[in-house]
Amino acid sequence: MQKTKKYKKAVVWFWNNLRVHDNQALYHALKESEEVIGLYVFHPKDWQEDRWGFPKTGQFRAHFLKESLMDLKQRLMEALRVPLYFYEGSADKAFRHIQAQYPFEAVFFQNEWTQEEEDIVKAARTACPQARWQGFYDQLLYMPAQINPLFSAIPDVFTRFRKTVEQKAQVMPPLPLPRPQATVPALSLSRELPHWLNACHVKIHPQAAFSLPGGETHALKRMQNYLWEQHGIARYKQTRNGLIGLNYSSKLSPFLANGSLSVRLLYAEIKRYEAEVQANDSTYWLFFELLWREYFKYMAMKYRHLLFHRKGFKQRNYTWAQDMERFERWRQGKTGHPFIDANMRELLHTGWMSNRGRQNVASFLAKHWHIDWRMGAAWFESQLIDYDVHSNYGNWQYVAGVGNDPRDRLFNPDTQAQRYDPQGDFQRLWLQGGLFYA
Ligand SMILES: Cc1cc2nc3c(=O)[nH]c(=O)nc-3n(C[C@H](O)[C@H](O)[C@H](O)COP(=O)(O)OP(=O)(O)OC[C@H]3O[C@@H](n4cnc5c(N)ncnc54)[C@H](O)[C@@H]3O)c2cc1C
Repeated sequence: MQKTKKYKKAVVWFWNNLRVHDNQALYHALKESEEVIGLYVFHPKDWQEDRWGFPKTGQFRAHFLKESLMDLKQRLMEALRVPLYFYEGSADKAFRHIQAQYPFEAVFFQNEWTQEEEDIVKAARTACPQARWQGFYDQLLYMPAQINPLFSAIPDVFTRFRKTVEQKAQVMPPLPLPRPQATVPALSLSRELPHWLNACHVKIHPQAAFSLPGGETHALKRMQNYLWEQHGIARYKQTRNGLIGLNYSSKLSPFLANGSLSVRLLYAEIKRYEAEVQANDSTYWLFFELLWREYFKYMAMKYRHLLFHRKGFKQRNYTWAQDMERFERWRQGKTGHPFIDANMRELLHTGWMSNRGRQNVASFLAKHWHIDWRMGAAWFESQLIDYDVHSNYGNWQYVAGVGNDPRDRLFNPDTQAQRYDPQGDFQRLWLQGGLFYA
């Protein structure tokens, strides 16, 4: 006999969890409620300029988000009969507006722990205090309930975090797909994307290393392709420092960042590959990189607003210049250092840069030119397709020497170029007229 459900009406608030598979918020909403709708809110702040004058969401990520939302809308309806509604404005207004026509008793959502996001959630909860608000840690491999008891405080050194977690914590297996609901609730709220987002078309650059469309469908395809068809995972450790093309690394970060791929599903697939095909240094290394992602998420949870602070987690009182002329040259790829410029032009024209490139250009800005690392991080935030608040600001701090790199390294762009681009192919690709350019 079917157990009576707890709630008559519920809302799943989608944000950076744009998927149907292994989505705890969606799974529990459908299990516990008779009627469920999905909601995506376009918060004005995400579409404004930041303090340095860059759009917080630049065209590349906007385009990727558009594709991700269209895919989510279709998959939600086809697989679960859940309609996805869009609202432009503040979340508190959205929920009040919905409450008037659809008196929901519960909201299921993905937990966030950075200031702007927490403020948005708080305002929404305050607007609808009668509802039960149930947050889930859907962007993590390990739940805080498992991790926090392992440490008195999350260690500042990655290796300590990694070793303890690997020994003592377990990744939760992905959830099955919930059952579709019987009826589709109909509200008078938009099911269409805002016209300005619809109008956002990005011409994919012919040299773009990342040219995949957004959305869960493509996330799953890419995972399948990289692991099971290309077997890229089996040689990842040798190729991961590459600079050109699609397959030197997994290219899963944009999907992980907006949640169209579950990191727990990716982990389960890595383990399945190891069991069914082969386990080697490379298959382990892909998991190792996911632990870096996890670690930055926990660092952000530990240090809260210090993630964005000039002095960083370490509260280092370095002097940073806000030299706009030099910063602009860095941003446009016109520093005069070919390896830096090639990477910066790739980012400018495609919204993508390799991990090797990111480390070098960040180190160059912060440690060679001593320019405020937050300006660089803000440009990355605007431009990157795979922008993830914890990974971006955490990595920038790490490279700038205010975070938790125990070695506080400095990258020499010339030796890095010789090592990772020995024939100059990557530099030629982006500097067109060759290494000597105006
Ligand atoms: C200054 C700087 C800024 C960065 N900003 C971001 C960002 O906004 N969003 C983002 O996802 N990554 C960021 N990274 C990390 C890393 O560069 C990208 O995750 C990686 O290049 C994405 O390519 P991939 O998916 O092919 O990665 P792969 O090499 O295939 O790695 C697999 C996954 O592991 C994770 N990962 C790998 N390296 C790191 C790392 N250093 N830190 C955290 N997670 C990692 C990513 O989720 C990635 O998708 C940044 C790195 C630096 C140095």
